[in-house]
Amino acid sequence: MEEKISIKTLLPSEMEALLLSLGEPKYRAKQVFHWLHQGITDFSDMSDLPKALRQKLDDACFITRPRILRKQVSQRDGTVKYLFGLADGNSIETVVMRYEHGNSVCVSTQAGCKMGCVFCASFDPKKSRNLTSAEILDEVMFAQSDSGLHISNIVLMGTGEPLDNYDNVMRFLQLVSHPEGMNIGMRHISLSTCGLVPMIGRLMEEKLQLTLSVSLHAPNDALRSQLMPVNRRYPLDELIPACKTYFEQTGRRISFEYAMIGGVNDTPECARQLIRLLRGFPCHVNLIPLNHVEGSPLIPSTRDNLRNFQNELLKNGLNATVRRSLGGDIAASCGQLRRQYDQEVAQ
Ligand code: SAH
Repeated sequence: MEEKISIKTLLPSEMEALLLSLGEPKYRAKQVFHWLHQGITDFSDMSDLPKALRQKLDDACFITRPRILRKQVSQRDGTVKYLFGLADGNSIETVVMRYEHGNSVCVSTQAGCKMGCVFCASFDPKKSRNLTSAEILDEVMFAQSDSGLHISNIVLMGTGEPLDNYDNVMRFLQLVSHPEGMNIGMRHISLSTCGLVPMIGRLMEEKLQLTLSVSLHAPNDALRSQLMPVNRRYPLDELIPACKTYFEQTGRRISFEYAMIGGVNDTPECARQLIRLLRGFPCHVNLIPLNHVEGSPLIPSTRDNLRNFQNELLKNGLNATVRRSLGGDIAASCGQLRRQYDQEVAQ
């Protein structure tokens, strides 16, 4: 038997082709697309389609639907964190964050990450796999429907390296921004990468209006290679020029993420090196107080170090902000809830 199609991965033109192949008129595609993007998980609920068509679709396709394995709600700021179970038994984390300007969802793009940044809880090369576009879309759809919080912004900053799952992520972006789907525009989407240089070049060619964030975390190669193994493959003298070209070609300012780690990358010398590295480049530096990961020797910078570092950047003309930390009372930084769950289940 042929494998069933994951129908939520289909773009409208592909949905039309599917319906034609089933001997149905093209216009049905719009109805099906609409139902799927409303969050329907059963073909029998597509009430304006003939029964015979619903059956044909059911025979040829399946609809993904994550299970909620865990849900945590922050008492402090209303952040909601989900651990979703996938059809193959793997699991992923999704977080809904509430801001004055609207609600944001932070989605994972891979189950377990292969990149191995030392400060991050998501590293899990054994259980790593790419998420399909439907699975990423489900994170947005089901986080919205379960939490009851209308989602207006998306950040691809959960577990996984989005540019390491390039095709599925591009497809997800097309699906989620589609006017007949969730209709979340590219200007409301941020994509974060650890710095896969060739893929930044490829993304540039797409000329998308999204915001590209680049995880920098260190101002020199020695330190960056220690913190982020990816730097050994794509060092700063390749990464920074790629970022500059990206900005020149797209007109979209890049946001550099810099997790502040006490005594490691938060010294006055590091600030000076960072200023030298980025001087004259129109960009944004987002300082993130390190989220402490259980068992890790790395600790967050003190409040004073954070402020001094930021002030030094500001004094030298770099646009630097400190990211507000949400969900501190729940395991809100990526990877932590999945880890906890896996440990409990293993016991
Ligand atoms: N793979 C992508 C996106 C996922 S992580 C990337 O590397 O950019 C989203 C951001 O959170 C990245 O900047 C990542 O470096 C950062 N991050 C991971 N663990 C963290 C921690 N414990 N504290 C603060 N930031 C962390």
